[in-house]
Amino acid sequence: MKSPEATRRVVETLAVQHPNADTELHYRNAFELLVATILSAQSTDARVNMVTPALFKKYPDARALARARQSALEKQIVSTGFFRQKSKALLGMSQALIAEHGGQVPADMEALTRLPGVGRKTANVVLGHALGVPGLPVDRHVLRVSNRIGIAEGDDPEKVEAQLCAALPEEMWTLASDVQILHGRRICRPKPLCSDCSIRDDCDFYEHVVMKDAARTPTAKKTRAKSRDARRVRTPGR
Ligand code: SF4
Repeated sequence: MKSPEATRRVVETLAVQHPNADTELHYRNAFELLVATILSAQSTDARVNMVTPALFKKYPDARALARARQSALEKQIVSTGFFRQKSKALLGMSQALIAEHGGQVPADMEALTRLPGVGRKTANVVLGHALGVPGLPVDRHVLRVSNRIGIAEGDDPEKVEAQLCAALPEEMWTLASDVQILHGRRICRPKPLCSDCSIRDDCDFYEHVVMKDAARTPTAKKTRAKSRDARRVRTPGR
């Protein structure tokens, strides 16, 4: 795995390629971001952003959402998928906020992950973006990008979070997640667009997979054969 210095350099370079990287979910406060993040599971941020304006108007806070009828809630969020599970999570989460936190979103990982429907990734999104507490959410993009580059190892989000957090100062944690999510969506997709990538020189996957594959292509073989021939012509008698 790469050194903390290299990890930091990678994040800084990605931040230049993706300026103003931030969550793409629309929200005005921690409660709205918590709701939007729960809805974003197995959905897209764009889809969630279509649903939340009307949802937040009808249920502006935990008190209003805790009193919602499940059937009405399901209708409003149906287009985000898994609407039954998500409506139960939203009701349970807002009822727990009322019962245990006076309706406020707690700025604490343990308290957040005790809420129904809230896992570590969701908690980190809310902590890092809406509550000013350093957090490094690891989603499938962060897993793919960090493993390819070689700044993390493994497919366990919690372990990858710990590796990245150990290598970076706290003030870079949320940025590190935001830039890798954008990079994974735009450039380092499952089929990566390496020619558009600013961190090729630091990327293990580029060095060990992309370049080696390129060397095996028919064009590369022809180029190598041509240069061998040219060398023979330049050195007659060999
Ligand atoms: S060089 Fe390619 S594989 Fe490496 S991070 Fe960039 S896009 Fe991803």
